[in-house]
Amino acid sequence: MPARIVISADGHEVFESWRQAFATVAPDLPVCSWFDPAWQLQPDDYALVWKPEPEHVECLAHMKGIICTGAGVDHLLSLPDFPQDVPLVRMGGEQTARLMADYVLWAVISLLRGARTWALQQQHAVWRNNVCSRTSDTTRVGIMGLGHLGAFVAQDLARFGFCVSGWKRLPSDVEGVTVWSGRENLPGFLAEVDVLVNLLPATPATEGLIDSDFFQHLPKGAGFVNVGRGKHVVQKDLLKALDDGTLCGAVLDVVTPEPLPAESALWQHPRVILTPHVASEASREMQARYAVNVVACLERGERPALLCDVARGY
Ligand code: NDP
Repeated sequence: MPARIVISADGHEVFESWRQAFATVAPDLPVCSWFDPAWQLQPDDYALVWKPEPEHVECLAHMKGIICTGAGVDHLLSLPDFPQDVPLVRMGGEQTARLMADYVLWAVISLLRGARTWALQQQHAVWRNNVCSRTSDTTRVGIMGLGHLGAFVAQDLARFGFCVSGWKRLPSDVEGVTVWSGRENLPGFLAEVDVLVNLLPATPATEGLIDSDFFQHLPKGAGFVNVGRGKHVVQKDLLKALDDGTLCGAVLDVVTPEPLPAESALWQHPRVILTPHVASEASREMQARYAVNVVACLERGERPALLCDVARGY
């Protein structure tokens, strides 16, 4: 029986857009909706999921592979019945990395130039000539997490003229980037950073990592961009660091919980730019193209590049 992709990602309302995307990139590959009452499991089924319905989780154990439409899979691995022995592949592809690099470039420059202040001044019709002479070539951006996305973002920022360093779990070389590794080297990495970008996965080792003690290692007045996960940050400690000038500002694409409750102090904070978890989501067609390549790779018995290591948690 040929491979087939069973789609639940983003709910039944959007299945037609997935069907069209797969028809464009792989017209011969069968796809079906997990929400179709007539659907029945076949031996060569692959799942395309984001946040699966609870009643779908048990069935995932009988799939040949699971492709997540997000690069972060913490929400899947934390499900009690999530299968440990079915290949789980994270979203990737060139457009995903390019979107993330564009977002981070915008966020870093926004912090460098105090764009939040300009937006507030415009809102109140204030013409205050608060020029800023900080430049890219004298700014060090530190990226936490130098994986598929972090390494691409770091090298992109380096091409724009920023000084770039990165921090990861294990030592390795990334061209054009000063690499720090291991928990023991975190303070040394943070001490040199003007703008910190979090691109770590959420795992037991990284949750709650970014707290008051962590912020104390940064030079006073550093900027902070969070595109990893809200769970990495102790939110009350972030607010304190913004209020007492430890941080000059923050650009947050991810928070806890999402959506952010209306009463959160982050919404109105004069040093915070908030975006609703939109930094990097490739088009349906690009995601479908990526999924088709993953299925082909698994069907050949090969290891996809972004296969999740369940024991490691990313
Ligand atoms: P990867 O798995 O490719 O890279 C993860 C990186 O984090 C690796 O460099 C890894 O180190 C490092 N890392 C993991 N654990 C630790 C640790 N305990 N200490 C130090 N370094 C660690 O992930 P991606 O680059 O694809 O994605 C990263 C994250 O970005 C996702 O998990 C997701 O949370 C977030 N994301 C957010 C999006 C958004 O729109 N806001 C969109 C897409 C992703 P090593 O290389 O040594 O193993």
